[in-house]
Amino acid sequence: MQVLIVEDEVRLAEALGQILSEQKYLVDIVHDGEDGYDYAASGIYDVIVLDVMLPGMDGYEIVRKLRRNKNQTPVIMLTARSATDDKVKGLDCGADDYMTKPFEPEELLARIRALTRRQGEVVLDEMTFGDLTLDLSTCDLKCAGKSIHLNFKEFEILKLLMGAQGSVITKEDIIVKVWGYDSDASDNNVEAYISFLRKKFAFLKTKASIIALRKVGYRLMEEQDQR
Ligand code: CA
Repeated sequence: MQVLIVEDEVRLAEALGQILSEQKYLVDIVHDGEDGYDYAASGIYDVIVLDVMLPGMDGYEIVRKLRRNKNQTPVIMLTARSATDDKVKGLDCGADDYMTKPFEPEELLARIRALTRRQGEVVLDEMTFGDLTLDLSTCDLKCAGKSIHLNFKEFEILKLLMGAQGSVITKEDIIVKVWGYDSDASDNNVEAYISFLRKKFAFLKTKASIIALRKVGYRLMEEQDQR
């Protein structure tokens, strides 16, 4: 789960980031409205925590612009004011929920959980492709009685590939979703992790393989496809 925090009060933003990281969310933090919009528009986040009063572009404008551009990422607005007008305005702009400062972090966590559930995301225990099973709680990859542990990045990459069920995932998608929107990761990083995954596939003696499509990306393939 990736969460974007757009909040110009640096200490509050850092504190929220810390709390969310402890809950295993991947967190990006930005402190002004224009960066906030650019990050949010990337579409990679599962939830955006958005302050109303921001330098550059305010929270209302950010949500309005996102929704105009068909970006439906759930947004929780943070408002310092408790006036009903502000809440209504936030919801009218397309926000999904709001919280009035100050608030308890537990309440924010609960609302994030509620919003990500509402998104219709099915919570799975495992994913499968061909003879492979990926355990989403332990990061173990299994095939015919054998099992091997994946490190975090291998796990995230394989999750993307398995989610695509044989469709192509671009290197760019992998970089943004696994390393983050503003990371320095390059194609070489992706290639390195793909080769680690292939070694683990070989260890498991799976019939599935990771196919590279030059200049496009990767996809999973079952053995029968290769004939
Ligand atoms: Ca503010």
